Amino acid sequence: MAAEYLFVLLFICSIALAGWKTSNLSSSGAVMAIMIGLAIGYSYGFEGLFILGVFFLSSSIWSRLFKKDKLGIEARLAKTSIRDWQQVLANGGPAAIFAIIFSFTGNEVWTLAFIASISGANADTWASEIGPLSQKMPFSVRSFRRVPKGTSGAISIIGTVAAVLGAALISLASLIMLNDMDSTLFFLLILSGFLGNILDTVLGAFIQLEYKCPVCNLRTESPFHCGHHTERTKGIPFVNNEFVNAMSSLFAGILMLILS
Ligand SMILES: [Zn+2]
Repeated sequence: MAAEYLFVLLFICSIALAGWKTSNLSSSGAVMAIMIGLAIGYSYGFEGLFILGVFFLSSSIWSRLFKKDKLGIEARLAKTSIRDWQQVLANGGPAAIFAIIFSFTGNEVWTLAFIASISGANADTWASEIGPLSQKMPFSVRSFRRVPKGTSGAISIIGTVAAVLGAALISLASLIMLNDMDSTLFFLLILSGFLGNILDTVLGAFIQLEYKCPVCNLRTESPFHCGHHTERTKGIPFVNNEFVNAMSSLFAGILMLILS
């Protein structure tokens, strides 16, 4: 048993180190990834880490691919594709919470919530990495107008399909730990993840912070641009992209608790 935990620890540390080496994680992001990995590895062993790994690896691949097609979008975002601790916590924190509750209660329903929350995180990440490849500008669910790519709260057909596929991949990966998987459960895990992504879009459209740069007039999620503080144009002060991601992933898990 002790040997297995040691392997889990070594495995988590090497994945975090690889993520840091390949600039997918900042050093704070790597430390947070180890903490989340430990919570999930403690509760579910390698099977849980496999599902987390599918999320981490597929998101990292998508953020690398077609990078030149997504140039200009990073200027709108507060963060780069090198994920820091807040981004890692927002995406993996809800799953870690469900995993810890499972380890205390032993009730399988928390495992379903755990998978759904990762399904939601993966749906969000795939939608935001693949959506901007759309030829057309996305459609804001708040103004019903076309807005620049990378705007939070905007949807495109490609992004929506990507969200469904992102959720489906996690549902598929969860076959490794769910012995009683059937088509209904498979569908519910995709549905929860996808609805988590819808919540992400709605919160992104209505309450997420957006600023305007006083120098170049760019609308951005960053509080700084062109060396100046930007001005808030909409949103609630603490509601940044990480907050919205965490809420959506948490919601996907809670929805699965209710549905199952
Ligand atoms: Zn500017």
